Amino acid sequence: MGAGLTGLWTAHELLKRDPGLRVTLLEKNIAGFGASGRNGGWCSALFPASTAALEQRHGREPALAMRRAMVSTVDEVGAAAAAAGIDCDYVRGGTIVFARSGTQWRAAQHEVERARGYGVDALELWGADRVSARDARGAVYDPACARVQPAALVRGLARTVERQGAVIHEQTAVDSWRQGSVTTDRGTVRARHIISALEGYGATIAQSRRRILPLYSLMVATQPLDDEVWQSMGIAHGQTFSDGRHLVIYGQRTADNRIAFGGRGARYHWGSAIRDEYDRVDRVFAHLVATLHDLFPQLPPLEVEHAWGGPLGVPRDWHASVLYDAATGLGSAGGYVGDGLSTTNLAGRTLADLITGRDTELTRLPWVGHRSPSWEPEPWRFMGANAGLIAMTAADGEERATGRGSIIARAMSGLIGH
Ligand SMILES: Cc1cc2nc3c(=O)[nH]c(=O)nc-3n(C[C@H](O)[C@H](O)[C@H](O)COP(=O)(O)OP(=O)(O)OC[C@H]3O[C@@H](n4cnc5c(N)ncnc54)[C@H](O)[C@@H]3O)c2cc1C
Repeated sequence: MGAGLTGLWTAHELLKRDPGLRVTLLEKNIAGFGASGRNGGWCSALFPASTAALEQRHGREPALAMRRAMVSTVDEVGAAAAAAGIDCDYVRGGTIVFARSGTQWRAAQHEVERARGYGVDALELWGADRVSARDARGAVYDPACARVQPAALVRGLARTVERQGAVIHEQTAVDSWRQGSVTTDRGTVRARHIISALEGYGATIAQSRRRILPLYSLMVATQPLDDEVWQSMGIAHGQTFSDGRHLVIYGQRTADNRIAFGGRGARYHWGSAIRDEYDRVDRVFAHLVATLHDLFPQLPPLEVEHAWGGPLGVPRDWHASVLYDAATGLGSAGGYVGDGLSTTNLAGRTLADLITGRDTELTRLPWVGHRSPSWEPEPWRFMGANAGLIAMTAADGEERATGRGSIIARAMSGLIGH
């Protein structure tokens, strides 16, 4: 259910393991309509729960296994796309996270030290001499990140799974499901195995309404910029960039030299509503452009040639999961927050192993079988989600004003992740 990257990677991996399987995808709109076709194109090793949080919950070895799986998934996506002949501008240029205040710089040093202690992520601490963002004291460079054109990846993958024999029923909305059958607006589908791959849209269906919270992230793409401008920004082809603020921002240099740049900050809508008009908020688009000029004052006037947005899925504990019950054949994967581009591939390989009854390194990863609590009913959900967004903005302001780590961020950490 859902023909985004989770559904499509799962179908792809199942048919690789057993080309004789009958795989059907049910998709309300078109394949790739959701977050998978609209994201920032960071194919990263990021997981919504930090290594420390994973260690605390699952123990050190399982946490490290999860990190290793995430790092290798960055290459897996590139290899799988290449093997399928999908041209999605995949270039593994790494990501640069600028530290633009004393607080962000201390956090960056701490992050790199911590990663060294775990010994999996090959993070590098770059000094001020290597970065060109305004006020940057340095940056954390993570080589485990590739830049992709997300819509090209997901549409290419949809064509690939069709070639493998899967059937994608677009314009077919799932209303409910139970063991053995799925009810849609166009009839009932019977299946031995049923996988929910709806991510943020799960909140629009009664039986999974409180399992996930749809949070909007919005993006702009500028006009193509001259190579000299990119050189002055210090961003090479294949690289992605961000800074150490709480209210997440993310950018990439597209293959045709545009800045594709996004951020959170659009509000949560009552009752977890998802509507087309929520994809576009002029205030957020303007804020994104202002943020780019603040980051890189050398930029020329920016024209926003494209602007869009969409819902990603946040579980109550910010911990993505893969679930599968062999007895009922029911399963799901999701809760990636803003880190699903690569993680969906790991989910697809893992679900394919589980469904075909294999016991592998993947099926033993700690996110398999992890159950996040449900979100609170309204009005608490509305108040909590929007308070979390306000808290992240306030935490950034507090850090700018005090020069110290935010007390607000620490107090609200249960709502805003990590
Ligand atoms: C603006 C934005 C930027 C992002 N940037 C990044 C990034 O740079 N890197 C990163 O790793 N992650 C990023 N993410 C998150 C990432 O895109 C998602 O985690 C990932 O695409 C989730 O894939 P999915 O297949 O699980 O969900 P989706 O792609 O959301 O797929 C769910 C599908 O279900 C369909 N559907 C909805 N309702 C029904 C129904 N009733 N019946 C049938 N089908 C239905 C939808 O149309 C959709 O196609 C971003 C997300 C957004 C919105």
